[in-house]
Amino acid sequence: MTKLQERNRAGLKLLRTGGGTRGLLSAEGHRAGQGGTLRAAVFGINDGLVSNISLVMGVAGAGTDSRFVLLAGLSGLLAGAFSMAAGEYVSMSAQREVFEAQIAFEQRELADDPQGELAELTQIYRAKGLPEAQAATLAASMMADPRIALDTHAREELGLDPDELGSPWGAAFSSFGAFVVGAIIPVIPYIIFGNPTAFWASVLLSALALFIVGVLLTTFTGRNWLYSGLRMMLIGTLAAGVTYLVGRLIGVSVTG
Ligand SMILES: [Zn+2]
Repeated sequence: MTKLQERNRAGLKLLRTGGGTRGLLSAEGHRAGQGGTLRAAVFGINDGLVSNISLVMGVAGAGTDSRFVLLAGLSGLLAGAFSMAAGEYVSMSAQREVFEAQIAFEQRELADDPQGELAELTQIYRAKGLPEAQAATLAASMMADPRIALDTHAREELGLDPDELGSPWGAAFSSFGAFVVGAIIPVIPYIIFGNPTAFWASVLLSALALFIVGVLLTTFTGRNWLYSGLRMMLIGTLAAGVTYLVGRLIGVSVTG
């Protein structure tokens, strides 16, 4: 591995861990396929749910007309979904650019130093446990076709699948959708009812949804479903309780 590759790889690691859950998830989604996609969806739904419950409860706490709560809830839904989609798009594009740069660099190396690259691939097969002669034959046949050579180096050396570098638009759309699914839940009662029914229906529906998301998370964590469900419900309720109180205080100071 050359200096530039090392730097690229270090940069990539930063990108994956530095982007918070979002960056991490998209990187994992890219590698883990379906499992990663499902996990990203559950976290996206959770994001939408917690952020919009908090928003709805904050506005509801101020004792405003239920139509304003509905307006705030729908705005919060769109604002959050666009923000998630934009963040996911940028993060996935950056990741893709790093991968493409790595592959382009590999392509230059293959052109500039085919003997060195042949030796490198032989070493990789040796490390996988093939005997010297077999490793050399296999590496030589992989190197015969430039396209196969590049594809093989990308997979074996960089650990990348050149056909699956991640789609920025796909990531943007799916995170938008997941956020909307979560964020619409506390808003639904306000579409149907007025106060005070809408408020209590929103609290109950949100608490139930938080519990379900907590239970869904056990698919990946393997933890006890009741514990996970209740913990998620507690976290979401705390967040919503804080914004409700803030809304109440501001509502009182404005009207009183
Ligand atoms: Zn190489």
